[in-house]
Amino acid sequence: MSDLLQQFDLVIGLEVHCQLDTQSKLFCGCSTSFGGEPNAHTCPVCLGLPGALPVVNKKVLDSAIALALAVGADIRQRSVFARKQYFYPDLPKGYQISQFDLPFCEKGGITLTSGKFIELTRIHIEEDAGKNVHGDKNSFVDLNRAGIPLLEIVSTPQLESAEEASDFLRRLHSIVRFLEISNANMEEGSFRCDANVSLKRKGATKLGTRCEIKNLNSFRNIERAIHYEAVRQADIIVQGGTIIQQTMLFDANSGSTRPMRSKEESHDYRYFPDPDLPVLFINEERIEKTRKSLPELPAQLEKRFIEQFELPAVDAAQLTSDRDLAKYFESSTKFLKKGTPKLAANWILSELAREVNDRSWTYMNCPVSAQSIAQLVNAIGEGTISGKIAKTVFKSMVETGKDPETIIKEEGLVQISDKSAIRTLVERIVNENPAQVAEFLSGKEKIIGFFVGRIMKESGGKMNPAAVNAVLLSTLNSKKVGS
Ligand code: ADP
Ligand code: MG
Ligand code: ZN
Repeated sequence: MSDLLQQFDLVIGLEVHCQLDTQSKLFCGCSTSFGGEPNAHTCPVCLGLPGALPVVNKKVLDSAIALALAVGADIRQRSVFARKQYFYPDLPKGYQISQFDLPFCEKGGITLTSGKFIELTRIHIEEDAGKNVHGDKNSFVDLNRAGIPLLEIVSTPQLESAEEASDFLRRLHSIVRFLEISNANMEEGSFRCDANVSLKRKGATKLGTRCEIKNLNSFRNIERAIHYEAVRQADIIVQGGTIIQQTMLFDANSGSTRPMRSKEESHDYRYFPDPDLPVLFINEERIEKTRKSLPELPAQLEKRFIEQFELPAVDAAQLTSDRDLAKYFESSTKFLKKGTPKLAANWILSELAREVNDRSWTYMNCPVSAQSIAQLVNAIGEGTISGKIAKTVFKSMVETGKDPETIIKEEGLVQISDKSAIRTLVERIVNENPAQVAEFLSGKEKIIGFFVGRIMKESGGKMNPAAVNAVLLSTLNSKKVGS
């Protein structure tokens, strides 16, 4: 961390926009599918034509209830849609339908990896705007995205580092994925975040002036942007300047933030209740119905993985960071015999995760099935293959999609643990290398590595390393004078 920052406390609050997976838009029947000819998914309502009236999509309400329950928020019995007025070409009505003073729900929160609880201010429902497309000579407006349902999740300013901010976001991301209310694809912008960043002198109680960095769309960029912005602000303050409240853009190439516009205040938007939409009533019955259908959530699953499979907390946290990964791991454990869940978790989180990333696989359509991984771990646990050979087997699993038992059989990779076979080879290698034996006898114990290397090479890495070590030591020691 920069020395400059030592004198300050960093304060961060996040506003997250999460696109909900629905067939149709928030207030009309238009499709929400990604791509498509520009303006193909539009109608009088989302084009903002006079006289067209919005009707709220019920599925959106159930998704909002599910998230509210998952984060323990208080759902308002009566919430209100409001018009947020501003002019922009991608906003044909001249206002966005959002919620203001009576949002869908308030409070609730998310527990970070450290155990620290970050309270939410609110979650509200709003529609997305369209998109301006800039060509060489002309600019165009595509309204396919206009009216797509979003949830905006606002945290209190309780986050104190870039790492806490990305931890918060990862946890929120996995919650919406577990609930299956959003694909939360960050590259497509279905899950994006504005980070509000301010500094105050160490220990001060009054919050400093904040800048808001818009539309961050990867966990890494959020951390980078916050780091950069914090240092930028510290620089200004120590030089006697003041921070101006602004909206900033993050440039991922240079890793820097720059001002986009001066920050607007909420009164600039002239919010008022949308007269075209009735007050939104959410009754207990509806909430209870959703509560009953809630899936197991990441935090609960993480706890269960630790208890049921005796996994270290870090492994459990990583495995439950993604719904598909968690499902994959759990199904692998059903096939485990001699191998332990801990070993299966290691293989999945290191070797397999790397392949899934590099090859753009998903855990669900991955050619290495959960059963195959379990078979591999069983083979290691039973001593059929060594950990080293397992890597060769795994490579072949990735490339051929065959299961490990077949590969081990076909390629003759079964580990040799048979003592007499090991002894024969060890004795031969020892007899062939008298100079190295003399070195060992003169006290250079490191030379053992030379023998192990030879033996492994001759046996094609198939001899059980522990057994080789034991036989080798006893053979060499027996050559000591007086033994
Ligand atoms: P808006 O940005 O729409 O004006 P709010 O006043 O509700 O809305 O604040 C939005 C976000 O800014 C929240 O996530 C809140 O936690 C955060 N925030 C507010 N004050 C500060 C501050 N001084 N430093 C950092 N974040 C802040
Ligand atoms: Mg804001
Ligand atoms: Zn429409």
